Amino acid sequence: MDEHQVVWNEKVAQKIIKNLEKRRLAGSYAATSTQAKAEVLEMIPQGASVFRCGSMTAGNMGLWEAIAELPGVNLIDPYRPELSREEGLELRRQGMVADVMVAGTNAITLDGRLVNLDGMGNRVAAMAFGPKKVILMVGMNKVAPDLQSAIARVKHYAAPVNNIRYSFKNPCVETGLCSDCRSPQRICNIWSTIEGQIIEGRIHVKLVGEYLGY
Ligand code: SF4
Repeated sequence: MDEHQVVWNEKVAQKIIKNLEKRRLAGSYAATSTQAKAEVLEMIPQGASVFRCGSMTAGNMGLWEAIAELPGVNLIDPYRPELSREEGLELRRQGMVADVMVAGTNAITLDGRLVNLDGMGNRVAAMAFGPKKVILMVGMNKVAPDLQSAIARVKHYAAPVNNIRYSFKNPCVETGLCSDCRSPQRICNIWSTIEGQIIEGRIHVKLVGEYLGY
């Protein structure tokens, strides 16, 4: 990240944080993923149950391993490779009532809206209601100027790249482009746009001055 991008990240992040607060979400900015990781670990109470969602951003910074080592913390991790499909689904259900959820977002708008698209829906459902605290790790590459461009970013970039990551048998893996398929492995089933919160500060968006995840 060169010095000019650093300045842009800081200025735009502060604008987004102000707009999040108007919507009763909390926000903060960390210039690096190392700093963001340390600050997020500080936010997790001793003995909490923590629901892991499939965030590349959190995974790449080693956040899951660090959370699992916190005193008394129970990491609800449906991504453990030894789990059967049914066991993974059961942990996703348990995650709905966790103390803390940690995830990413597919896009965030300058005016503070969170835009996400799920295959199964457990992530967007838990973002909306369930876990007492939701912490979202968001690289500045996820910023979109408005709702329309956020939706386009998710549909035409994040979804195909995530399909490629998981080697799903969907047409976008071959072409890199969305063809609005009807595949049984389609990961684009449930949209969510979070515009605000009744419980003030329940969602905390940790903006990070790096390009992280898709
Ligand atoms: S709708 Fe289908 S083709 Fe389009 S991104 Fe999603 S999985 Fe890929």
